[in-house]
Amino acid sequence: MNIILIGPPGAGKGTQAKHLMSKRGMVQLSTGDMLREAKTSGTEMGNLVADVMARGELVTDDIVIGLIAEKLDTLDGAGAIFDGFPRTLAQADALEALMASKGSAIDHVIEMRVDDDALVARITGRFTCAACGEVYHDTTRPPKVAEICDACGGTEFTRRADDTEDALRTRLMAYYKQTSPLLGYYYAKGRLEGVDGMAEMAAVSTQIAGILDK
Ligand code: AMP
Repeated sequence: MNIILIGPPGAGKGTQAKHLMSKRGMVQLSTGDMLREAKTSGTEMGNLVADVMARGELVTDDIVIGLIAEKLDTLDGAGAIFDGFPRTLAQADALEALMASKGSAIDHVIEMRVDDDALVARITGRFTCAACGEVYHDTTRPPKVAEICDACGGTEFTRRADDTEDALRTRLMAYYKQTSPLLGYYYAKGRLEGVDGMAEMAAVSTQIAGILDK
């Protein structure tokens, strides 16, 4: 089964994708993570996108479509969770074509609905375990033992360069201008479903499970 999680920055897509990976053996395909990896390892493409990402703008379709095409070849039958991709109509069309070329398809598109006012607080308090990527929040989800990752025991944490209020405004604008038209696109294809992204993490997971197990 292949699914897309769609929603503004801070909606909880990454957190739910990680949950689905551990519960269902699906594979998270996050173009944001792939781009950050390219940036950290200093590849030519990584250097090219660093400024665009720090500002909160979208990188070009060609780059992310190329990244996804490469990853799709490595799935080996596992279900994919597209997290942060597609973000434009051109990316959505490219994904349809890529999946069709593999005799596969997107089974569910899940919109994570959130209240925009909550996003600034969610994003600016967010940090991640450097070792395993588990996501935490200063006030709403600190590690059980301070400075030790609940999931892997790691002790190093990172904060994203674009998790600032300024960059978030640009990211939100990109979401509403370029990504939200995808809701209509998938609705028209009869594939759009929604969950309440403002609910507790476990409750959101339950709602998603309800959609996948239908
Ligand atoms: P994310 O981790 O999904 O919030 O993505 C972080 C940043 O990476 C975004 O603000 C964009 O600059 C870039 N990015 C990630 N995915 C895409 C995509 N599908 N299309 C264009 N830019 C992307």
